[in-house]
Amino acid sequence: MAAAALRGRGPRPFFSFSSSSSSCWRRPRGLPPGPSRPLSGGGRPGRSTFDVAVIGAGILGLASARELSLRHPSLVFGVLEKEKELAFHQSGHNSGVIHSGIYYTPGSLKAKLCVEGSLLCYKYCDQKGIPYKQCGKLIVAVEREEIPRLKALYERGLQNNVRGLKLITSKEIQEKEPYCRGLIALDSPYTGIVNYRQVALAYAEDFQTAGGTILTDFEVEDMQMAKESPPGSEEGLKYPVVVRNSKGEEVRCRHLVACAGLYSDRLSQISGCSPEPRIVPFRGDYLVLKPEKCYLVRGNIYPVPDPRFPFLGIHFTPRMDGSVWLGPNAVLAFKREGYRVYDFSLQDFMEATAYSGLWKLVLRNFLYGVGEMYRACFLSAQLKQLQKFIPEVTINDILRGPAGVRAQALDNDGNLIDDFVFDEGTGDIGGRILHVRNAPSPAATSSLAIAKMIANEVERRFEL
Ligand SMILES: Cc1cc2nc3c(=O)[nH]c(=O)nc-3n(C[C@H](O)[C@H](O)[C@H](O)COP(=O)(O)OP(=O)(O)OC[C@H]3O[C@@H](n4cnc5c(N)ncnc54)[C@H](O)[C@@H]3O)c2cc1C
Repeated sequence: MAAAALRGRGPRPFFSFSSSSSSCWRRPRGLPPGPSRPLSGGGRPGRSTFDVAVIGAGILGLASARELSLRHPSLVFGVLEKEKELAFHQSGHNSGVIHSGIYYTPGSLKAKLCVEGSLLCYKYCDQKGIPYKQCGKLIVAVEREEIPRLKALYERGLQNNVRGLKLITSKEIQEKEPYCRGLIALDSPYTGIVNYRQVALAYAEDFQTAGGTILTDFEVEDMQMAKESPPGSEEGLKYPVVVRNSKGEEVRCRHLVACAGLYSDRLSQISGCSPEPRIVPFRGDYLVLKPEKCYLVRGNIYPVPDPRFPFLGIHFTPRMDGSVWLGPNAVLAFKREGYRVYDFSLQDFMEATAYSGLWKLVLRNFLYGVGEMYRACFLSAQLKQLQKFIPEVTINDILRGPAGVRAQALDNDGNLIDDFVFDEGTGDIGGRILHVRNAPSPAATSSLAIAKMIANEVERRFEL
């Protein structure tokens, strides 16, 4: 695995690429997609020592915990999650697209893990009976100047070994998507859709079946090296890291994996490691097509992306429930887990504005940012973008929909970090923890491949 230097300062990456009482939760078999619910006796209630504790029950924390518990049945694993539900943040607020791996720089972690992860994702869904649709995707050029960029994307997709890619003509676009207009398009037939919350809950179920414990309502606030063994314990300092939550409760463990999404920089700081790269929250608002207009869209329809940003642009995405979502945009959010336009957190705001990297980013992209905010406020402005692809969509056909917030890492120079970043730290606790630092899209698609890589790294570093 190629290791390259992380842009900006920070901990040494092990693989990166530049560009009350807590409750035990389990998803019983047959629970429909959606939030999991508590069980009185699920998992191993009361357990408070773990060989490895994973922080964060999003799709990556759960996939990693699952992989580790399947590989090491004799060890004890726990997942610590601050919410009362699993997959509550990014993993439960996304487009639900199983990406095929077109966009990413050849040789990058995103390219490798997305291609591998999408195959694993389809296989896993087949094994578990999780519904998905391989409805395909068109990346459509609507302006002449987009054509060279689209062709470059095609070449990139081929280099990344994406299956089935081809460039299609305007006539072929209409055969596939009768209401879509475009000059040429890149056709990716193996792109699909799935409900990632449902996938994450299935990982949680596998993990608990393998003996793992999930503690929800457990917000990790502090980590210390134990100075003495717990009272009455015969195990001495076998579990030397004491992890405390915001209620003062503690668990002990030997090693940790932090998959904290929008809080990954704060978790890094709590563990004594570098806060950089910082996380910048980018809210993405969706619009939804009224049910009677969903016939306008068959598969995923995407624009040719703006090369300056890691986001893919406003797209038309069919959902597993038959609805069609339009979006998401990308607006700087004033609260990390703020899903509404006016959500504001003083702490998040102060931290963000004190970071010089954010100012460099804002100044460099000021007009673009203002444009995104304008489009977020005025539906008619967003509609104009959508009509470039499907002219039939009118203001009467769309409603405001849900939102998600992306955890996007930003370096000190104001660069949005393109690739996935994982790192370790220094110091007593730093030597016992691995951090997922940047795992935006397509990390849900790549979750099983990322989990394998994390498990390999945990085994290697911590000599499990
Ligand atoms: C709008 C949007 C659209 C997207 N579309 C796609 C897509 O179509 N396809 C795709 O592959 N990817 C997509 N993604 C990306 C994908 O959703 C994420 O990459 C993925 O969900 C990241 O998973 P995670 O487990 O790292 O983070 P999360 O799901 O955010 O999980 C992190 C967890 O850590 C917990 N946590 C944080 N701090 C603490 C603490 N102190 N103590 C305990 N727990 C803590 C949080 O509560 C949370 O549950 C999209 C993302 C967004 C936002």
